[in-house]
Amino acid sequence: MWIRDVVHVVRDGQGEVEAPVGFLFDISGRKKTGQKLLELQRELERLSFEDGLTGVGNRRQFENALEREWQQARESRHPLPVAMIDIDHFKRYNDRYGHVAGENCLRRVGRLLDTATGRPRDFLGRFGGEEFVLVLPDTDADSALRVAESCGDAIAAEAIAHSASPVAGVPTVSMGVGPRIPDDNEPPLSFIAEVDRSLYLAKQRGRNRIVAGSHTG
Ligand code: GH3
Ligand code: MG
Ligand code: MG
Repeated sequence: MWIRDVVHVVRDGQGEVEAPVGFLFDISGRKKTGQKLLELQRELERLSFEDGLTGVGNRRQFENALEREWQQARESRHPLPVAMIDIDHFKRYNDRYGHVAGENCLRRVGRLLDTATGRPRDFLGRFGGEEFVLVLPDTDADSALRVAESCGDAIAAEAIAHSASPVAGVPTVSMGVGPRIPDDNEPPLSFIAEVDRSLYLAKQRGRNRIVAGSHTG
């Protein structure tokens, strides 16, 4: 693509413009560079919200999604179900099969959770380590439990070997599920602490299970 640009004017003795001097520039190279920069910018944006190992949302994107949905749930007075999912005895998995296998397992679990949660507004993220988190807007408590159950079933059905697990011969997950209408002025992270307590109870009660509800203290 060519553009014409006036870069200089020739003036007579009185300073009047006698002749503009123009040049033609080929800017197709610049245009291509611009497009390339735009693509790079998009790629950087994607990477800044994606968990590098599993491809699901990262911690930052989780916090953004939670903040957004929490606000909406507070306004609409609808419950917002959140599920914290932690792989059981994953340290033993690494110890038995090695870290590379551990990471492949994390990727597979991420894909299975992604498949088990199909609605457009469902958010799946990696909370950290071997922990994932689901935010399920516009979902009632029973449906949220069903989603959590199908996540556990999908992981069990994949039949990944985990011979070091005292729970089952395959990786299992413990889950805390908290569907709750946000209280006014309550920060979303205090609700997450509540869901985390349910997850802790699921571990205490023997793992490979879901604990739902609110537990304080
Ligand atoms: P629990 O059933 O109580 O959850 O036991 P756990 O072993 O899963 O939990 P713990 O918190 O003791 O250990 C978590 C382990 O998860 C530690 C680490 O070996 C493994 N892990 C966390 N993140 C990664 C990762 O990115 N890659 C690999 N390979 N392992 C990870
Ligand atoms: Mg953990
Ligand atoms: Mg664990």
